[in-house]
Amino acid sequence: MKLQNELGPNIPVNKPLVVRTIKDVTKEQREYALEKTEYNVFSFPADLLFVDFLSDSGSGTMTDLQWASLFHGDESYGRNKGYYVLLDAIRDTFERGDKPNRAINLILSGETNVKKLMDELYLTSFEGGFVNGGVHQLIRPNAFIVPQGRCAEFLLFSTIAPILKEKYPSNEFFIPNNGHFDTTEANITVNGITPVNLFSANLLDEFPYDQMDNRNPFKGNMDIKRLETLIHEKGVDSIPLIYITITNNTAAGQPVEMNNIREVKKVANKYDIPLFFDACRFAENANFIKEFEKGYQNRTILNIVQEMFSHVDGFTISFKKDGLANIGGGFFFRDNGKFHEKFSFKEDIGIKLKEKQILTFGNDSYGGMSGRDIMALATGLYEVVQESYLNERKFQIRTFARKLAENHVPVILPAGGHAIYLNMDKFFEGLDAKIDEFRGVGFTIELIRHYGIRACELGPFAFEWDKKNPEQQKGILNLVRFAVPRNVYGPSHIDYAVAAITELYNNRDKIPKVEISRGANLRLRHFQTGLQPIYK
Ligand SMILES: *Cc1c(COP(=O)(O)O)cnc(C)c1O
Repeated sequence: MKLQNELGPNIPVNKPLVVRTIKDVTKEQREYALEKTEYNVFSFPADLLFVDFLSDSGSGTMTDLQWASLFHGDESYGRNKGYYVLLDAIRDTFERGDKPNRAINLILSGETNVKKLMDELYLTSFEGGFVNGGVHQLIRPNAFIVPQGRCAEFLLFSTIAPILKEKYPSNEFFIPNNGHFDTTEANITVNGITPVNLFSANLLDEFPYDQMDNRNPFKGNMDIKRLETLIHEKGVDSIPLIYITITNNTAAGQPVEMNNIREVKKVANKYDIPLFFDACRFAENANFIKEFEKGYQNRTILNIVQEMFSHVDGFTISFKKDGLANIGGGFFFRDNGKFHEKFSFKEDIGIKLKEKQILTFGNDSYGGMSGRDIMALATGLYEVVQESYLNERKFQIRTFARKLAENHVPVILPAGGHAIYLNMDKFFEGLDAKIDEFRGVGFTIELIRHYGIRACELGPFAFEWDKKNPEQQKGILNLVRFAVPRNVYGPSHIDYAVAAITELYNNRDKIPKVEISRGANLRLRHFQTGLQPIYK
């Protein structure tokens, strides 16, 4: 008889205890709602959809332990107990590898020994890592919790831009990334810095769908040759930071190899430039390294995460990703590291950041989150690195991609960690669809109209192709993303989506082009412009 793990990679790892009924909305009702919301998929009411793949961000199901943690939430203004638990959970996750402290258990177990609480949680001091503690966090702040990832990006870029301009008044500045996320790109741009995408050259290469369980080309990697060229062309003083996004959301959610991280780090060291992660899906990325990179198969996720983060000087993160929590974000940099040294110009950079954090998001110990959010997030950090969960999630996405590929739909392969992406250039191949007709957006409108399924264009419309110079246009991929929220959907949702996408693909000549009817010049316009599909 076969052993249990020979019956497929997917032994069930969880079960839902709460269900929500989906409403029986008609096509006519959706058409009316589309018209009333200017055909902008972001403004379409979620409650009128059957399946929502707009984002995996904060839209996941919390576990029973996370719900239980909410009751331990402490809404005190100054130094709520969750603050200490969260900071230590961050040290556990990113720095301690296989030796986590789990100070969170002191709170969840109702510890009453005051001396123990003081010694092990409230008055412990830390320095030298990503999260100073005790008096060191006051003297040299280096950990900033905020409501979401983009708040961390705002804090970072709006604080360093004036420093750069003061230090190098006649320079232009560029921040390279293996793929800037839209809000990262926007936060860099509004501060007068130019974001540069250095996608891996193999990103759009063909990949056989039946090989997804066997190998992975790590298409999320940064193109290191282009990184060196950029630094040579622009000069070291024009590159304030190098960023690696794990996984590479803008590049089809593809993972980044440990070896690539190491190689980028070498370049960063050579030119003395701080290296940062956009760490939004660090756990999913670590899981890909474990499955596919040589030498990592027998290491734990926490151990791999520890190695990944040992190579960087800091990171911004959205804790809404990786299915971690419904809200939360942060910015962390190495105590007395390269970033601290480079940007502490006249004044400690941490103190400057903290002043801005207090001005915009509140006291540093809650950073715009409720005490309940903080506890759910801390608990989520311990759950998201569990391999059974990560594998189940990864195989769900892989199955989604494989089923589409079997139906000949042009899906980017192999599948990434949190979403499947369709290649719209291929989708409309042979139909003379011009890039500024935004047919990818037309496809997302038709998906809602006919089938009540929401996806999101991340291509020429979202990344403002028509407003960029030819060099920047080269950095824009033409994709539509179906992001899968954590623990929300099962096989029936995926199968329905595969059938709907295939049906539209087979009728792609009927998909309308889309014009911008209002707000073409708004920034981050996919969130706010009005649209009009043009049916022939
Ligand atoms: C979502 C995301 C962000 C921004 O985080 P928010 O919490 O949505 O503000 C930044 N980078 C990447 C790669 C993301 O996926």
